[in-house]
Amino acid sequence: MSSYIEPHQYTLRRPVSCCGIGLHTGKPVTMSLKPASVNSGIRFFRSDLHADKAVPAHMDKVVDTTLATTIGDGEARISTTEHLLAALRASGIDNVHIDIDAHEVPIMDGSAGPFVHLLQRGGRKRQRALRRILRITRPISVTDGEKSIRIEPYNGFKVTGRICFGDNVISEQTYSVDVTPERFSREIARARTFGFVEQVEQLWRNGLALGGNLNNVIAIHWDGRSILNEEGLRFDDEFVRHKVLDLIGDMALLGTPVLGHVIADRSGHSLHLDLMQSIVDNPQCWEYVKFHKRGKIIQRRTVEGSRTRPQQLPLFFPQNLQGGVRPSACPA
Ligand SMILES: [Zn+2]
Repeated sequence: MSSYIEPHQYTLRRPVSCCGIGLHTGKPVTMSLKPASVNSGIRFFRSDLHADKAVPAHMDKVVDTTLATTIGDGEARISTTEHLLAALRASGIDNVHIDIDAHEVPIMDGSAGPFVHLLQRGGRKRQRALRRILRITRPISVTDGEKSIRIEPYNGFKVTGRICFGDNVISEQTYSVDVTPERFSREIARARTFGFVEQVEQLWRNGLALGGNLNNVIAIHWDGRSILNEEGLRFDDEFVRHKVLDLIGDMALLGTPVLGHVIADRSGHSLHLDLMQSIVDNPQCWEYVKFHKRGKIIQRRTVEGSRTRPQQLPLFFPQNLQGGVRPSACPA
């Protein structure tokens, strides 16, 4: 079963770092990930600005969702957070201190694969503190024209994505995955970002995607029938897998692991944020699962409004979280 619903919090065992370029600036960036204290969450520090000022990876800090998800506090901005956050969430890292000396997370090869390897080099360290998990109890939906996103009760974290383009390379693709560290690493992490050649040329004219090249973007030919990357695709449906990757990364901005099934149809960063805001705005559609340790017993309490239902679990977490769900629709 997925490690992200283990009751304990995790951080890195040792610091790790990587270098790369920003997708939009094309400028070099160095990023270091370090172990962090319990309950501190995922926090960025702009080492080239105010090195001691934290920018938490939280939806409240999102300042832009155009092309990528950007968080910020004043002039301290960090862009293209989604691939790194997807790797952190899927790898079950709760607390990490991230020093970064530019305003973009390095694009690496356009996927989350290099970040998964980085986190594997750092190792996971179990912490004494216990997690809090947001569990969806009733469906919540958000639509924007033909785009839609929905989250339903589910005994795990599952993502289903669908994309639909009018070309012959992508066309229509659907992908569904129970997000575990193993499946993320094997099926999702290596899926790269993509763009149509004419879009990339337009971005270049506007001074964006300056770091974009065939080593970090799948470029779809103007005729919509082929890609420019000579090595080909990593998966036949690499495009929708990358969209699922982006969604996992954006959902990390809720700040806690989630138990629910996200179903996204042609969604993007902006709609992902709308879904998270709708979750926050509809507390009758979810509850927190909290854990408390009593000797060798870990006790789970489901906090639902003012009611608390204590349950006892063994120290080692069972195969799944038992408990009924109410499939009635929320007015969201
Ligand atoms: Zn992406």
